[in-house]
Amino acid sequence: AHLDRIAEVEPKINAFLHVDREVTLGQARAVDERLRSGERLGPLAGVPIAHKDIFTTRDMPTTAASRILEGWRPPYDATVTRRLREAGLVILGKTNLDEFAMGSSTENSAYGPTRNPWDLDKIPGGSSGGSSAAVAAYQAPLSTGTDTGGSIRQPAAVTGIVGMKPTYGGSSRYGLIAFASSLDTPGPFARNVLDAALLHEAFSGHDPLDSTSIDAPVPSVVEAARQGDVAGLRVGVVKEFGGEGFQPGVQARFNEAVALLESLGAKVVEISCPSFATALPAYYLIAPSECSSNLARFDAMRYGLRVGDDGTRSAEEVMALTRAAGFGPEVKRRIMLGTYALSSGYYDAYYGQAQKVRTVIAREFEAAYHQVDVLISPTTPTTAFPIGERADDPMAMYLADLCTIPSNLAGNAAISVPCGLADEDGLPVGLQIMAPVLGDDRCYRVAAAVEK
Ligand code: GLN
Repeated sequence: AHLDRIAEVEPKINAFLHVDREVTLGQARAVDERLRSGERLGPLAGVPIAHKDIFTTRDMPTTAASRILEGWRPPYDATVTRRLREAGLVILGKTNLDEFAMGSSTENSAYGPTRNPWDLDKIPGGSSGGSSAAVAAYQAPLSTGTDTGGSIRQPAAVTGIVGMKPTYGGSSRYGLIAFASSLDTPGPFARNVLDAALLHEAFSGHDPLDSTSIDAPVPSVVEAARQGDVAGLRVGVVKEFGGEGFQPGVQARFNEAVALLESLGAKVVEISCPSFATALPAYYLIAPSECSSNLARFDAMRYGLRVGDDGTRSAEEVMALTRAAGFGPEVKRRIMLGTYALSSGYYDAYYGQAQKVRTVIAREFEAAYHQVDVLISPTTPTTAFPIGERADDPMAMYLADLCTIPSNLAGNAAISVPCGLADEDGLPVGLQIMAPVLGDDRCYRVAAAVEK
């Protein structure tokens, strides 16, 4: 049924980069066999899922929406992919994204933008916009995403679904094509909080193949999602994330969510986090710096595309031609920014300074969590914006991540849950709930309460 639904709406949505009916049906038959032979599988056995095309998959191509990886067939499964298979999930296909997960609108895909199912002229968020659109358009009940600076929470918010960024290190980066390694975090998308929690538990947990994986039990997020009780919980409203610059309809739905939490017995206070204003500039030095280093591996020798290799050119020339043809404009902008920020003479002024800011932000979170159990804010300042509106204005585009980026820099847990539709445009609004490192269960507890 989901494959049929994909075939029906895909010409309008463009959520997928790759769908292979036979491969998917083969996976489904294999799960069926396992169940028939008496193997005990978890609660998601047989459930179809859309998988972001930044996780390696042995049986499907993996492109990260870049021309430079066109046609690449990975020889191995990412840990997240492997765990999906072990849990008996059936992969429907690979979803569209901003090239190498750099963007907030999925317009930076080399394979065309994905459209928001709520309004086809609007963006579905990004970078995981194929994954958010697929779930919102009922092409899949679940999907995977990665959140480096908001790429799960922001697309979830603007398509009216649930999206969770687990604690950094709580889900494995092995086989996730690297963008900014100190920030990249796989996480789940679903249409309700419990489904997201079930998927979260299915692929999370320690992985010796990822050097920054946390060797600790996965927080009991399913139990928390079932409870959804906030009586006595201390909730902090981030003072800086509201008012000017926030769309009135977003602010109105957020205020109602605050009132709802109070009526359910939560103790709501305002918390000032002045350093959060510096998160965006710090992120746009740290993420491009790490990207410039990570993307050096696309050297035309080892993967995918190779341009100009006609026997007359040096390896360096082929590399330059391939990277010029294979990377899109946003990826090139980031590589240049990052290379500049890391270069000798500028390192201390830019990269070093940004790392200090990162520490200040992490400390401010810590101080806040002495006073409250969770922090909340709107997930995004506005609802989904029109395709094309910010495409030529990187600064305006970057503002979409204003509220999400502090949690990435601090490595803590954060979720976006739908909290109604904005009056101006009838588009979905997301509530963000942030919790300390390994406090993922708190995010689900509060999200479940708001969802009810
Ligand atoms: N929009 C942010 C960026 O472009 C975040 C992307 C992400 O989380 N992958 O870097």
